[in-house]
Amino acid sequence: MPANSNRTVLLKNRPAGEPSEEDFALVEAPIPEPGAGRFLARTIYLSLDPYMRGRMSDRASYASPAEVGRPMVGGTVGQVVRSNHPGFAEGDYVLGYWGWQEYGLSDGAGVRKLDPRMGPLSYALGVLGMPGMTAYVALLDIGRPRPGETVVVSAASGAVGSVVGQIAKIKGCRAVGIAGGEAKCRHVVEELGLDACLDYKSQDLDRGLRDACPGGIDVYYDNVAGPVLAAVLRHINRGARIPLVGLISQYNATGPTPGPDLMPLLVQRALIRGFIVSDHPDREADFLRDVSAWLGEGRLTYREHIVEGLENAPRAFLGLFRGENFGKLIVRVGDDPTRPGGA
Ligand code: NDP
Repeated sequence: MPANSNRTVLLKNRPAGEPSEEDFALVEAPIPEPGAGRFLARTIYLSLDPYMRGRMSDRASYASPAEVGRPMVGGTVGQVVRSNHPGFAEGDYVLGYWGWQEYGLSDGAGVRKLDPRMGPLSYALGVLGMPGMTAYVALLDIGRPRPGETVVVSAASGAVGSVVGQIAKIKGCRAVGIAGGEAKCRHVVEELGLDACLDYKSQDLDRGLRDACPGGIDVYYDNVAGPVLAAVLRHINRGARIPLVGLISQYNATGPTPGPDLMPLLVQRALIRGFIVSDHPDREADFLRDVSAWLGEGRLTYREHIVEGLENAPRAFLGLFRGENFGKLIVRVGDDPTRPGGA
């Protein structure tokens, strides 16, 4: 049943350094009515992603910043509750981008209909959505892993990294993860099936990489940059490929960060190439075909970290930068009728 108010989390301030809960405001407003050519959707799931830190700032970036006083941006899965749009009917499940609120209006642009028989609805925000596609395209197109090669991935238990490591195994590689803490590393080896995982918080990475990658590193899928990248670079092979996909260790920096020694890139004739998933819509059909099949065959497992209630979104988002999420971070904003008990 729709409630009669729309709870929304607004961006209140642009943070300097690490954001805090005070940078967000939870407000209530009437549920909006869809005008001609629009529909109203009830949010079921909200995705929380590291890129949102960049949107909170007004530094020049590849995407424009979120507006202060407006709902925080974010990917959402919802169900259409009222529609004046010929392409969307009441009851349809949709993947959209109306942000941190319980109800959103849409004109249908960029919205994908979801079939709950294809898997849990929330997967459209993770393994079968933007993070999964980031893993698939940057690994296969930039990393170009070949059977027998060694692939290392950082943030290895997370939304992107967990898919990267498993695709590396599917492609016949030795796969080594790097993650924060013993529980995450155990998960990466025992559940995801990687050959090894190094805990960058408690282990000497240099020694760990030497042991875990006796033949050196052919592909390093970088989600974090900073000291982890610096350690990995010392072990890359000639012709190594390094998809540079995320710099999460630097997202809260207030000044220049100590950079890695890039000399091995030169000596080893390595290619390092920046990657933005939204440049690759032409790869979406391949991505959905392959990753859906691997999920269906049980060759890919996928872990979600689901937080209950929109009011907990700010705190959960901040936890991304402390490694408190374990798997793809999602907020359950409303009941999911496609999961047993609606939970
Ligand atoms: P995750 O689910 O992996 O969550 C973030 C993880 O990053 C945390 O759990 C933590 O894991 C790790 N982390 C946080 N701070 C640090 C730090 N200082 N040093 C090292 N690791 C840290 O997030 P996603 O999978 O959604 O995103 C992973 C990366 O991919 C991010 O950098 C993101 O910006 C990037 N990305 C880039 C895209 C593109 O188009 N270029 C698209 C999508 C994502 P742990 O406890 O293991 O340290």
